[in-house]
Amino acid sequence: MKRLLLLLFWLVCCSPFSSGTPHTDSDFQSFEAEFLAQLWKAYPTWASSVGYHLYDSLLPAPNDANREKELSFCSRMLSELKQYNPSDLSSSERVNYYIIENQLLYLKWNIEELKEYQWNPALYNVSGVFAEMLSNNYSSIDIRLSNFMLRLDKVPAYYEAAKQSIYNPTLAHTQLAIEQNEGGLTVFTTDLNNAIEQSSLSKNEIIILRNKSQRAVNAIEAYVNWLKKLDNPNPRSNKLGEVLYEQKFKFELQSKFTAKEIFNKAMQQKMATHKKMYEITASLWPKYFGGKIPERRLQAVRMLIDTLSSRHVSANDFQACIERQIPKLTRFIKKKNLIILDPTKPLIVRREPDYMAGVAGASISAPGPYDKSGNTYYNVGSLDGWSIEKSESYLREYNNYVLQILNIHEAIPGHYTQLVHANANPSLIKSIFGNNTMIEGWAVYAERMMLENGYDIDTANKGEASPEMWLMYYKWHLRSICNTILDYGVHTGKMTKEAAMELLMKQAFQEKTEALGKWNRVNVTQTQLCCYFTGFTEIFEFREEYKSLMKDAFHLKKFHEDFLGKGSAPVKYTRQLMLEQKNR
Ligand code: ZN
Ligand code: ZN
Repeated sequence: MKRLLLLLFWLVCCSPFSSGTPHTDSDFQSFEAEFLAQLWKAYPTWASSVGYHLYDSLLPAPNDANREKELSFCSRMLSELKQYNPSDLSSSERVNYYIIENQLLYLKWNIEELKEYQWNPALYNVSGVFAEMLSNNYSSIDIRLSNFMLRLDKVPAYYEAAKQSIYNPTLAHTQLAIEQNEGGLTVFTTDLNNAIEQSSLSKNEIIILRNKSQRAVNAIEAYVNWLKKLDNPNPRSNKLGEVLYEQKFKFELQSKFTAKEIFNKAMQQKMATHKKMYEITASLWPKYFGGKIPERRLQAVRMLIDTLSSRHVSANDFQACIERQIPKLTRFIKKKNLIILDPTKPLIVRREPDYMAGVAGASISAPGPYDKSGNTYYNVGSLDGWSIEKSESYLREYNNYVLQILNIHEAIPGHYTQLVHANANPSLIKSIFGNNTMIEGWAVYAERMMLENGYDIDTANKGEASPEMWLMYYKWHLRSICNTILDYGVHTGKMTKEAAMELLMKQAFQEKTEALGKWNRVNVTQTQLCCYFTGFTEIFEFREEYKSLMKDAFHLKKFHEDFLGKGSAPVKYTRQLMLEQKNR
């Protein structure tokens, strides 16, 4: 009798979902390792970009046969994944399960539904992966150049396959492909020559390398010319439309919200932010202008923003000023006990290297998932050679107030601090498939959190950020909010260029060049512009939720440590894990 009961119990528990005993975490970790090994084999250039260099000599031609191979890789891995039951796994491994599942479904969806390989000619560009081989010192220059040479052989076939794959491309992506492929040519001339000088290649090897690189340059130029002359009477629209947009948003952002929900929240936040900005402006009006405040509220706000923007550093002092601010931020965080900063992982401020020049004013270069011990750099764009007008406009944009917020966002306690914490998490899956919404959301959250705790230009202030600082913060924050409104409006609705410029210039107080840049970006990307506001909203709302659950036991620093310690996983999963831990 007892035996029969046990047998029945076994049948109920273990079928039909799994055969035999439930899988353990270590079973699943072996699957993860196997999955990654197969992934890098299937996607060798992606592998190089994350610092996995076993396949550096490969460059698959992006043709139908290769896409079939990718699809069968995804299907095979999905069915292997389904052997595991997420509820058998520990909470951290369960999150990895969902991250892998999302990634595989996303890759499949891209080929089968989105069909980006047909309409986006800018997908085809080899310069980035070759540039990385020259600039990143992961192994000796001779080894890197020998893989460089083997990979170069495959460039002509690569671009032939690209031409075969393209069908009715969008005009915006065609233009982008022309510009980016032309821009990348210096990798095979100037950059390669610099690398050759540092190498110990023989004269003969250098001649062979130069010939091969000339063939690659010819292939790229032929592709560019082909695109310029392309007969394309029915170009596809570069607007995704609501259905594809919602799907891409789901895969890309992995948010608990839909795109539509986030759009509605952004619209609300825009109104609320305008209201706060007007209240601050009204309270500061006597101090700066006196007399009667203009009737048109946004105009009054703009006048005060313009006045405050004249407080800025000089072009020559731009980098030095950023360097001076980093220790100030660190001191403030320690004094207020906001988060742990690891002094053994210093942040190196440097002038932006040439190969990334002209992209962004400031950015973080962090070591990849396979090279966690590398240095972290804060790249600061130089204003050398800029016209007086251009640099004045840039310096007004990054005035004394906004420059602080930029440093919070990029460095401390924004991207850099988050990356140090994420690198301490042993999960490769979470760092390779780092969720951009969480990463950008954290940096945007950090801006707000620092001001809430009283950060200001003048750290000698009485513990509260000044109204001027808040006003400029809100102006900066409107950028995230309006990025979302713009992206959703353009891709799912009928937002015209005129309406977009009105939104960005009048309602978000941006300069014309900045607004035009954003318009160009929204025309060649989809959903990425939403990640800032979406991530911020999820983190901020979760913190408030957690605070009200924990009541007196809530500690901001503890919350930040727990949150960042989960790695760069989607916020909805980290929330789940923290709520589970709290209930334990
Ligand atoms: Zn000025
Ligand atoms: Zn960022």
